[in-house]
Amino acid sequence: MPGVRFYACGRCDAVHALPDRPTACAECGATRLDDVTDRLGEAGYFAPPRPGE
Ligand SMILES: [Zn+2]
Repeated sequence: MPGVRFYACGRCDAVHALPDRPTACAECGATRLDDVTDRLGEAGYFAPPRPGE
């Protein structure tokens, strides 16, 4: 999807596909959202984060 980036919520792990970084998570309202667009090609992306990450 051209122009769309992916942001993962640091609290509830929801992933939002939006053209711009959202100010808050639409699911839980958290303001910590990580741009994970560059990680989408990695195997196991949707698995839980590794400990310590
Ligand atoms: Zn959230």
